[in-house]
Amino acid sequence: MKKGQEKFLLGLDIGGTKVEGVIIKISSDTKNTLSSHGRSYFPIPSEFLKTNDKLWGEIIIRKRIPTERDRGYMPVMKDIAGLIKSLCEQTSLQIDDLLGIGAGMPGTIDPEKQIMLNGNSQIFINQNFTYDLCQLLASTPRIHLENDASCFALSEVMCGVGHDFYAHSGLKISQQVGIGIILGTGVGGGIIVDGKILSGRFGGGGEVGHTTLVPGGQKCYCGNFGCAEQYLSGPAMEAIYFERSNIKAKSAEIFSDNVSTVAQEVRDFYLNNLAIFLRNLTSIFDPDYFVLGGGVSNQPLLYNEGQKRLWDSTFLPQSKPLIYQHKLGDSAGVIGAAILLLTKNLE
Ligand SMILES: [Zn+2]
Repeated sequence: MKKGQEKFLLGLDIGGTKVEGVIIKISSDTKNTLSSHGRSYFPIPSEFLKTNDKLWGEIIIRKRIPTERDRGYMPVMKDIAGLIKSLCEQTSLQIDDLLGIGAGMPGTIDPEKQIMLNGNSQIFINQNFTYDLCQLLASTPRIHLENDASCFALSEVMCGVGHDFYAHSGLKISQQVGIGIILGTGVGGGIIVDGKILSGRFGGGGEVGHTTLVPGGQKCYCGNFGCAEQYLSGPAMEAIYFERSNIKAKSAEIFSDNVSTVAQEVRDFYLNNLAIFLRNLTSIFDPDYFVLGGGVSNQPLLYNEGQKRLWDSTFLPQSKPLIYQHKLGDSAGVIGAAILLLTKNLE
């Protein structure tokens, strides 16, 4: 990329309750970007655009709309098309000016067919999202769909904690193995190897929330028993605490309660389960690091005590993956969606 030359990507984070859209400007001109106080900018590894320049991404516009999925698929799609048009209009861009559109979807995406195979927002399942969006836009931009947790992992590796790990180890981002884990209302994950999402045959790669953590344990909505999600999500921790104390409390309260013995026991149980979960993933991928997102990830205990329990238990004593807290905050999902196309060998 020549100095001063700009490129634009549009990212969508499509959730059950809201759809967020952003346009990201990619530029090698750090002067403009870094001086723009109050705006969101982040580094992008230049190796992905095969350039020697240091690149910066900047969110130049951001807009949210409610999903209101009860209305059904097509009304929601019309709103999404309207959101894209309005983002372009307000930035004086044409859809053709975009390198493409990336969308983080609340479900598993078949990487080849680009169809959502499952997920909580059932209106999108088995729909031809790309075709329908092109029809509504009366245009044929490059569109790529990906699971939202994989988008989180991709953005943190490429634009967030991956840069910290590079500073720490000297290992280029395109050579890192990073695993993103969402510990929120559910448990999701994304696995990044060599700068790309490891999707697997049908896009189920990274569905770590449904690995078995406790054989014969709590029943999961997926049909199995003892899934990681049933022990590591915020609601799961709260349910376990309620079962033992008959008191309703939020996971943050359980983490900060230093008086109640039950709270300490539930925390201990949680940290042990987290260590087992991450140790299993370490035995399979031997990653450079984990990066945690979602509501539970704000607890400092995960990064000191959690990391200690993991390091004490890995099969290879040399395997000591760092556990990072997310760096891009709420923007991680939508940035990951926008930069999806950079991983598809655009240039
Ligand atoms: Zn499950």
